[in-house]
Amino acid sequence: MAASVTSQVQEHQWHNLLEREIARHLDTNLETGLTAAEVTKRQEHFGANELKGKPGKSPFVRFLLQFHQPLLYILLVAGAIKALLGQWVNAGVIWGVTLINAIIGFVQESKAESAIAALASSVETNATILRNSEKVQVPSTELVPGDIVLLASGDKVPADVRLIQARNLQVNESALTGESVAVEKDTQSLRPDTPLAERTNMAYAGSFVTFGSGRGVVVATGEATETGRISQLMEQGTSLKTPLTRKFDKFSKTLLYVILGIAALVFAVGLGYGYSWAEMFEAAVAFAVSAIPEGLPAVVTVTLAIGVSRMARRHAIVRKLPAVETLGGATVICSDKTGTLTENQMTVQAIYAGGKNFIVTGTGYSPIGQILLDENPVNWKNAPALKECLIAGLLCNDSHIEKKHDQWQVFGDPTEGALVAVASKVGLTRTDIEQKMPRLDAIPFESEFQYMVTLHESGSKENSLLRTIYVKGSVEAILNRCQQMLDSQGNLTPLEAETVHQEVDTMAHQGLRVLAFAKKYVSESHERVEHTDIKQDLIFLGLQGMIDPPRTEAVRAVQACQEAGIKVKMITGDHAVTAAAIASRMGFNKNGKVPAFTGSQLAQIEKHELATAVEDGVVFARVAPEQKLRIVEALQSKGEIVAMTGDGVNDAPALRQADIGIAMGGAGTEVAKEASDMILTDDNFASIEAAVEEGRTVYQNLLKAIAFILPVNGGESMTILISVLLARELPILSLQVLWLNMVNSITMTVPLAFEPKSEEVMKQPPRNPNQSLLSKSLVRRILIISVFNWILIFGVFEWIEQTTGNIDLARTMAIQALVVGRIFYLLSISKLGVAIINNLRGIRQKIEDARAIITGIICTVVLQIIFSQWSLMNNLFYTTPLNLNQWLFCLLVGLPMIAVAAIVNRIASLSIYAKNLHYR
Ligand code: ADP
Ligand code: MG
Repeated sequence: MAASVTSQVQEHQWHNLLEREIARHLDTNLETGLTAAEVTKRQEHFGANELKGKPGKSPFVRFLLQFHQPLLYILLVAGAIKALLGQWVNAGVIWGVTLINAIIGFVQESKAESAIAALASSVETNATILRNSEKVQVPSTELVPGDIVLLASGDKVPADVRLIQARNLQVNESALTGESVAVEKDTQSLRPDTPLAERTNMAYAGSFVTFGSGRGVVVATGEATETGRISQLMEQGTSLKTPLTRKFDKFSKTLLYVILGIAALVFAVGLGYGYSWAEMFEAAVAFAVSAIPEGLPAVVTVTLAIGVSRMARRHAIVRKLPAVETLGGATVICSDKTGTLTENQMTVQAIYAGGKNFIVTGTGYSPIGQILLDENPVNWKNAPALKECLIAGLLCNDSHIEKKHDQWQVFGDPTEGALVAVASKVGLTRTDIEQKMPRLDAIPFESEFQYMVTLHESGSKENSLLRTIYVKGSVEAILNRCQQMLDSQGNLTPLEAETVHQEVDTMAHQGLRVLAFAKKYVSESHERVEHTDIKQDLIFLGLQGMIDPPRTEAVRAVQACQEAGIKVKMITGDHAVTAAAIASRMGFNKNGKVPAFTGSQLAQIEKHELATAVEDGVVFARVAPEQKLRIVEALQSKGEIVAMTGDGVNDAPALRQADIGIAMGGAGTEVAKEASDMILTDDNFASIEAAVEEGRTVYQNLLKAIAFILPVNGGESMTILISVLLARELPILSLQVLWLNMVNSITMTVPLAFEPKSEEVMKQPPRNPNQSLLSKSLVRRILIISVFNWILIFGVFEWIEQTTGNIDLARTMAIQALVVGRIFYLLSISKLGVAIINNLRGIRQKIEDARAIITGIICTVVLQIIFSQWSLMNNLFYTTPLNLNQWLFCLLVGLPMIAVAAIVNRIASLSIYAKNLHYR
């Protein structure tokens, strides 16, 4: 069978066929879907429903690209000229170093890239399908031709499907056709020659459902889909570029010209002094090599990659690398309420029906509990309005509750689960009622409309109007469509809107989320229900108020953000009073107040005043998704760096506009995930706070790395420049410089990427986004340490050279002294060093944290010993073995670095924060 299906898949013009022909060709049942056995068979045959895509650049090309850095050109050319001069060892070492540099860069980059790609693909796309007549969610990779897929707004179309049902279905096919306006879909067969973009009865893999719902048969999966064919032309691959690395690129280009200029000067000056060409060439190369921070790119990549994996461990998956950096600078976080700040565990606590107030006991989704009226349990048989209100909640509902692992759980929307649970407390169940009043049609809930509608066969025989429409939704959406309501006896009376609004207010002030219920009788001719059917003449049935408690860890996280100078704003589709009540309970207060705006208020504010209003507001309620975009833009116009959460289809523009768009891994739609920079796997606000903390740590560690590497380049280039100008022997040769800048720098700087976060990290306001990377304070620090490094190299060299006359020994000792100083400097900026100075008590734990730094220092010491004691290294690098006294001498002259570093920590803080506190 499967074989015949394959051949069909290629032959048919699916848009041209009729439903039953499709079912026959694909050998499937449009009502019940495929059986499990059939699916397994087809999976074997068709393989996974995924796109391989064309692999990115080949490893070889990516390796070659490692050499494509302006600063490395200098090294390559320098090596070539050395070779021309016949200095083969020299040339070999220079080339060897560039090669090692490229290998390190290549390995690090590949590791970082595959880690990010793996994380991104760990967020799987699900599809809802029919199997054995049951609605199930499966990873979309498991789909096979013949599967029946249910599509709802926000879904990514998982495979090519021929539609057999469409209800206001609109699909955005821009990925396929380039057309950014969503296309309206239906199920009518089309002429065979209809072009792809006009096949309105097909939905293609990779496009998004932006509105409505539908159902379709899978006709092609994986590479056989239309996108599959195109995607072979597209390249895969993640970009490792961030604003910071771009700044580095620019910085190194400028540096290149400066270096070339000064090198030329060195050359000319030296020649003027009467040195030979060869000597001056060595000096010019040594200068160029010394000024280049060769190890820096590798360190930056490692630091960013570590940041990404730390965030992933804390439930924040970075989709785009720049987010790591931007997060650390976030100044405002705009968060969803339901599910992110709150538990999304709904329990109905209050009901208003027939003019009476009922109280509900019990917690969670368990059916244990009672509905009380004046503290007495009620029987729904004596309370017709209550009964209607509960039934509306049960029927206008797509979710169910179930006891699993000894716990009552909701399957579907928690808001709806709460309605099922409260009805079950008085013994009303959906199966019983649906038997009498089967559902005929429905319009699912959509944030845009804020209501859900179902159409039912009417249960009562005496009623001539045989069908009932039930509606549930926000009070604003329902109440002004109602003219009548039920009184306590269940009779129709005119609606008292004023009273109802008061009841809503009372519930909302307690932080309850309020839903309104209504119904309408229609004639038997109604097969389907449309939005126009419920424009007016609804009968108001009552209100149900449910509690959605704040997440405890979110409360703490909101506090932590505020302490860190980050403003937190709540954006919700919920009622303003409910939202404000929850916000104040969570500590969003701004001088004791919670300034709240509703969507309609925002809409009335003039454009130029909007920014101020949005800046002041804390709660934004009943906000339409497109208003989120305006909120983000308004905040950005005030210079804020905005992180914004979103889950719906319509949130995509705001997510894209935000500096960091955050999608929900659980509740989020595929559209939102695709538009985001970061995904929260647990949908929890606390994870945003954690990610910000990690982002700040990454930035701090990058800064430490820069502050650590550059002074060595500074010291070396000063040494060479001054020695040439003073017409002295070079205290350090180009090869030795390379050793320091590559081997030594990388062993010592990579550990900084592993530095644990500082306790201070969330105690300071965010860094000033306009501040340049090389701040004044950083430049000052680099200069001071550079000068000290120069004193070490130049001083030790001159001293030893003059006392012993041994130039190789003098150079070796100068280098070792520099490295000793470097070790102390490393300690001074690492957390370990701070711990040693501040208190020796918790030192054991601190040593645990600082394993990377300690390892780095041990490796450095071993490498330096090899560097001067091993005869091979002596030949390669012109070093000489040192005796014990000479080692001690190097140690001694390096010691003053402790004092210098201490002074620098005072006067040139390494803090990344806006308020320039001393780095601790
Ligand atoms: P949020 O998730 O930010 O609280 P939503 O956009 O999900 O806001 O919901 C907005 C309003 O729509 C809610 O306050 C509620 O009144 C109503 N609502 C929410 N879920 C449903 C649903 N399943 N059916 C009908 N109405 C709903
Ligand atoms: Mg919601």
